[in-house]
Amino acid sequence: MARIIAVSNQKGGVGKTTTTINLGAALALAGQRVLLVDLDPQGNASSGLGLPRDEVADGVYDVLLAGASVDDVSRVSPVPGLEVVPVTEALVGAEVELVSELGRERRLHAALDAVRERYDWVLIDCPPSLGLLTVNAFVAADSVLVPLQAEYFAMEGLSALVNTIAEVRRWLNPGLEREGVVLTLVDGRTNLGREVEAQAREFFGDEVFATTIPRNVRLGEAPSHGLPAVVWARHCPGSRAYIELADELLLRHGLKPRRQGVA
Ligand code: ADP
Ligand code: MG
Repeated sequence: MARIIAVSNQKGGVGKTTTTINLGAALALAGQRVLLVDLDPQGNASSGLGLPRDEVADGVYDVLLAGASVDDVSRVSPVPGLEVVPVTEALVGAEVELVSELGRERRLHAALDAVRERYDWVLIDCPPSLGLLTVNAFVAADSVLVPLQAEYFAMEGLSALVNTIAEVRRWLNPGLEREGVVLTLVDGRTNLGREVEAQAREFFGDEVFATTIPRNVRLGEAPSHGLPAVVWARHCPGSRAYIELADELLLRHGLKPRRQGVA
């Protein structure tokens, strides 16, 4: 049975999509069966895996609002073992269209429940907001993983996210857990970077993954090649970090990291 993880932070540009793509790919490289669900109308996760919005006919919109199944719309990615539910242009209107639908918060849950035994992990790349799309992710998920950019004021606004998790837990998904916090865009060489990291660890304790993701230009370049950095530039510091993060996640869940072809 897949563990379903929503990758969320309502702030944009904190590394949600980069984390979803590279963690998903790193888990797949470790022999895990992974489904990545792109739930951000911008479609950056889809295009980062070679499926740009305007070249895809069906996607997560059709699952949420047109009765399609995950199997109808999921696609293979360039990474063996990693499948994608991509985004199409139509998703831009989904948030508004969902409002008048019955079961509007549970659409994604119903669709993922039907396929979860065929995957080990389902990662949902959430939009930078806490609207109905994100609520759908939280209702479908077992846990929420929060990428936190290592900068001042990073924790500002997190209370809204924590409140949304609490509200979803209360009304819709009592089992929703916090998977943890991953520090992204870390510049370990500066005092500022070190200070923010220390603050986050003091505040969130064990919830913060030991692995941190450094600021690394390769991570930003890989999407333009339609490939995860862990495949396109697997030995750069950013890719190494995401592979380590995947190992840490596997270990946290009592699974042994098993990587193909890496010493
Ligand atoms: P979000 O999904 O939270 O909006 P992204 O993952 O899209 O954030 O990241 C925002 C921008 O920063 C993107 O251009 C991405 O390529 C870049 N980026 C993300 N993480 C890193 C990193 N660790 N080092 C360098 N650039 C990064
Ligand atoms: Mg994103």
